[in-house]
Formats: sequence, C-alpha cells, structure tokens
Amino acid sequence: MCKHMNFAAQVNVARMEDTGQFMADITVRCSECNVPFQFLGMEAGIDTHGARVSVDGLEARIAICPQGARPNPLQRMAFNVKRFDG
Ligand SMILES: [Zn+2]
Repeated sequence: MCKHMNFAAQVNVARMEDTGQFMADITVRCSECNVPFQFLGMEAGIDTHGARVSVDGLEARIAICPQGARPNPLQRMAFNVKRFDG
C-alpha cells in the first residue's frame, strides 16, 4: 500500500477573453502511485469571484487576479475596522 508521501501538482492558469478575469485550475496526485487527490470543503461548479471544485472533486478552480487589482484580505480587514469605528 502506498502511503502517499510524494506529490505532483499542476496549475493551469487561464484568462477568460470575455470578462478579462483569471482562473487557476489545480490538480494534485501522488507521484508514486498516481492516485489523484480530492479537494475538500468547496462547492462544485465555477465561481469567477471565488473557489469551486469540479464535480469529481479532483480539480480546484480558483479565481485569481494580479496583485493590487483587488483589495487583499488585510486591506479588507482594515477597511472593515475603519467602517466599524466611524
Ligand atoms: Zn500514493
């Protein structure tokens, strides 16, 4: 039995011509026995503003953008704190 100690990961990044948005599709498998890994905790489908997984659970589809194009989590926290103070 393989204990799955080594991994191969692939990331395919796509730019959607119609919206100009970017998606990163990620797959992971054991590099010794080739078993693919399922992604946990994500709903199936596609969300161009978030993270989803293929119906078989094997491909994570994650919306991405160039650094600075959208507020990062820290900037969003700072904005929310400011809003609550004011
Ligand atoms: Zn394995």
